[in-house]
Parts: sequence; structure tokens; C-alpha cells
Amino acid sequence: MPIKLPSFRPRKDAHPPDLWTKCPTCSEMLFNKQLDKADRVCPNCGHHFRLSAGARLDLLLDHGTFAELDAGLQSLDPLGFVDQKPYPDRVAAAQLATGLRDAAVRGTGLIEGHRVSICAMDFAFMGGSMGAVVGEKVTRAAEQALEERIPLIVVSASGGARMQEGTLALMQLAKTCAALDRLRVAGVPYISIMSDPTTGGVFASYAVLGDVNLAEPNALIGFAGARVTAGTIAQELPPGFQRAEFLFEHGFVDRVVTRRDLRHEVALLLRYLVPLEGAGGGNGNGAMSESRPSFDPIGFLSSLAEKVVPDLGPGDGLDAPESPRTSRPARTARTAGDAPAARRTGRRTADG
Ligand SMILES: [Zn+2]
Repeated sequence: MPIKLPSFRPRKDAHPPDLWTKCPTCSEMLFNKQLDKADRVCPNCGHHFRLSAGARLDLLLDHGTFAELDAGLQSLDPLGFVDQKPYPDRVAAAQLATGLRDAAVRGTGLIEGHRVSICAMDFAFMGGSMGAVVGEKVTRAAEQALEERIPLIVVSASGGARMQEGTLALMQLAKTCAALDRLRVAGVPYISIMSDPTTGGVFASYAVLGDVNLAEPNALIGFAGARVTAGTIAQELPPGFQRAEFLFEHGFVDRVVTRRDLRHEVALLLRYLVPLEGAGGGNGNGAMSESRPSFDPIGFLSSLAEKVVPDLGPGDGLDAPESPRTSRPARTARTAGDAPAARRTGRRTADG
């Protein structure tokens, strides 16, 4: 009598692509739901995957305290830019894919009870590129921090300026830097968090101007790509070039903080970095403001011109009271006074 075997269903070889993610560092297959639960950090090797702006805000802020502002800001197409497809089509596709209006989300919230003005970028939206909207949101976040005298936190994740907005995107570098300088003069702290990747125009402006610059492990941080840099200087690059740990060792990043520790680390810094008392844009702070003149674009340009053209002295037309370079020591003096203990403890959070 023949034995009747139970029938097996054909085995599914192909898994739905949105179910699993392969870790690029250890090659482990990770179940997406578990990865999300672990804040998108590989439980096997600690690889930090990119985080959406929404998940980033959830991670950093006290539950339910985020109040979004300027949610309606949206890019226009002033240049009528068309590459493989028109720029408005690209924006619409990115909006559909991410559910965001643009590559940054800003608002206010609490971090372990400290009220902050916060702006988080999302790499999934057109590579986190900085156009007029991103620049405007960072600037408004800084202006709100100044107005309310609360710390500013910006989480960067960007490939650089948005080429489809051309000069208007490049203008955001100057605009955001000017806003941050007003913050600096007024003695309101700014913490910059660099996640993977922070490159191009964002690196060249607000991402590295924090009173404290934090970075996530192994985040790519730099201006030009490694191949361009190697080609320009005609030299082989050292291992780990443009990674967070490399920049930490060379003093460009103040701390490398794992995602698990990030919220507590920022809260700890907020306890050290308290905004200076008194309102106003820098003139009401006595000795502090005397040594720190506000940013003067004409002075900056003329000091630059002095370096390029040695003959052009300060008396040759442009009035250069003080270059921003001279204001640097005062700035480090402030942060050095506030957070020496924070620097000494090294790259990991010291609890307690
Ligand atoms: Zn891994």
C-alpha cells in the first residue's frame, strides 16, 4: 500500500523587500520591525542606519512634546529647472515617498524637560539636500531659539545644497550662518548633531558651527567626496577618512555618541549650556559681548581680500573693524568654560 505523503506548499524564495534589511557592515539579515524597535541600529554589530526626521524627533524629544512649525513651507521652482525630469516632479515624487513637504522638519519640544528649538533633516527626501525651504527652516529655528532664549538643536543628514535651486540653495549657507552668529552673540547655545551623511553645503555651513558638535558612529562627514579629495591633493587618503571617529580624533567633532545614548547626552549638555540671562542681540551682556562683535559681512570680505591681495589695506575703501577670525577665541572661551568636564569624559556618555 503506497504511503500518502502530506503535500507541502511550495517554498517562497523571494521575501518581500520591505520585510528584511541586510546590514552593510556585518551582512546579517535584519527583520525590519526589530530594526525599527532598536532605533535602526544593527543589534549584531552596532551599524547605525539612517533615520527619518520623524523617528529622529521621537528618539530625541520627550514623548508627545513636539509641536511642528512651518509645516506648510514648500519649494518653488524659481529657475524652471529641468534635468532628467522637471524639478517640481522630483519634489512631488519625494513628497509622495516620504510624506514630508521638504527635507527638514522643525518645531519645539522638550528633552528631559528642557525646552528646545529643534530642526531635523531627512535624507530620504532628495538626499536631504538643502534648498530654500531647508535653509529657511534652520534659520527660523535659530531665530525662535534667539527670541525665546532656548537652546537650538539641528540634526543634519544631507548630501549638500540642492542643485535644482542653484544660487538660491547656495545663499542658504550665508543665511543660516548669519542666524547662528546672532545666536552666538546673544549667548544662546546651539548643539549640532551630525548623522550619516553630513556633507557638502550643510557641512560647509550650520552642521559644524555648533557650540558642541556631536556625531553618530561611523557617520560620513565631510565637504567633497573622498575620490574628489584624493584627486585634488593627489594623495592617498588615510583609512577612516571623513568618518565620525576620524574627525573626533582630529578635533573636528567634539564627541561620537551612539544613538542609544544620544538623548541623554544632549540632555546632559543642555544642563551645562544654559542660555545667558537677559534679552537682546548681544549688547546687553557686558564683557561677553564686547569681545565678540557680531558678524560683519563687509569686514569678512575685506579681511579675505587682504589675504588674497596684500596691497589692499583696511584703509582702501572697505572699513574692516574686525574680522570674524578675531572673534573665534572668545567663542571657544565660552564653551571651554561651560563644558570642560563634558570634553574630558571622552566619546561615550558618562552616566550620572
Ligand atoms: Zn550589522
